[in-house]
Amino acid sequence: MLTNDQLSKWDRENFFHPSTHLAQHARGETPSRVIKTAHGVHITDRDGTELLDAFAGLYCVNVGYGRQEIAEAIADQARELAYYHAYVGHGTEASITLAKMVLDRAPDHMSKVYFGLSGSDANETNIKLIWYYNNILGRPEKKKIISRWRGYHGSGLMTGSLTGLEAFQKKFDLPLDRVIHTEAPYYYRREDLEMSEEAFVAECVAKLEALIEREGADTIAAFIGEPVLGTGGIVPPPAGYWEAIQNVLNKHDILLVADEVVTGFGRLGSMFGSEHYGMKPDLITIAKGLTSAYAPLSGSIVSDKMWKVLEQGTDENGPIGHGWTYSAHPIGAAAGVANLKLLDELNLIENASSVGAYFRAGMRDALGEHVNVGEIRGEGMLCAVEFVKDRDSRTFFDPEDKVGYALAAALLNEGVIGRAMPQGDILGFAPPFCLTKEEADKVIGATATAVMSVLG
Ligand code: PMP
Repeated sequence: MLTNDQLSKWDRENFFHPSTHLAQHARGETPSRVIKTAHGVHITDRDGTELLDAFAGLYCVNVGYGRQEIAEAIADQARELAYYHAYVGHGTEASITLAKMVLDRAPDHMSKVYFGLSGSDANETNIKLIWYYNNILGRPEKKKIISRWRGYHGSGLMTGSLTGLEAFQKKFDLPLDRVIHTEAPYYYRREDLEMSEEAFVAECVAKLEALIEREGADTIAAFIGEPVLGTGGIVPPPAGYWEAIQNVLNKHDILLVADEVVTGFGRLGSMFGSEHYGMKPDLITIAKGLTSAYAPLSGSIVSDKMWKVLEQGTDENGPIGHGWTYSAHPIGAAAGVANLKLLDELNLIENASSVGAYFRAGMRDALGEHVNVGEIRGEGMLCAVEFVKDRDSRTFFDPEDKVGYALAAALLNEGVIGRAMPQGDILGFAPPFCLTKEEADKVIGATATAVMSVLG
């Protein structure tokens, strides 16, 4: 067996890690943790250290680790048929069954699902479909996409442009043309502290209206948003936000893409965030929770309204010129079918809702009064704790102090994985849905200890 030192050496010499400080990693200044096994909410590294993963990987292992039902479905599929493509009408029992299961769970006005591999490629698909749609409708100028600051939609060329976080654009010559950004519905970070939530929503709407006015509605094709901002800080929208935004979009004939890569399949305690907030999207992006990350698979769920136009387009132009080799990969599809069955059988969405609420309430009891805790928020099995230098004046820490990262490191010392969200001093939690109340208590206790050790 290879030693850990050998693996670590090879790792630093050969492996280009995503979202990693490349120079520090090569110099050996960042950890090289080799994960070996996982079960439930726990992962174990090669040294035998067990950690409670309160972020479910990258908020994706929703049913928890080590589910043998999914592993067996994958193995059975690999033995019977590891691969065949989905071009020109081909399918497998797994991909066809999964498409039906997705549509059975999606809002009623949705019509079809296109399968990809990642959240990023699903959003790339969405943008292409939107442009195609407007070309078929004879509106070649209506192409710009509105995204929100702090939105996260992937790290491809177009999707990295949609992502409204500095680190994903700086030095990459992004954003590309045709992408424009508007206000994030982040009430805690409003400029005017006296402003009511209602007035803040009105301000978000006014800023959107002004942007549309400035750019011209006939140049704007779509608006993309996560039902709850995820990587941008885990921020549920203020009351009435989605309804007000949709009224504006409808008025200007602008499509709505609900990016449900995080929220789809139960993270908010509802099957989809769209139903949770009364959204009526034209496209829904799905990924992570579709397979609980047991295999890579994503999807774009297309509404009846758009589907009709796409069909018309192929009658006029021939087959749709869009496809990946691995679209609807049978192994991913088999994982998806087994995963969605488990979600139902084990009532995991209900657990996400009830234990998620218990978790946030416990976090508030433990830390709600701490002088450096500005806000504790979330929805379903999502929780964020935002730290500030002074809670009364809502003064933020200097980003150079990297307080959020120090807190995540201290939490790791307590045996718990939380995530320092990339913009602001925010500790994020998104545990697997099978989290028990005892495990929630452990995360809360570890967080309180970490906060005391870093901030006193
Ligand atoms: N959209 C959202 C809302 C996401 O959170 C993510 C990933 N965190 C993506 C898209 C991109 O997904 P992927 O990393 O699978 O490309």
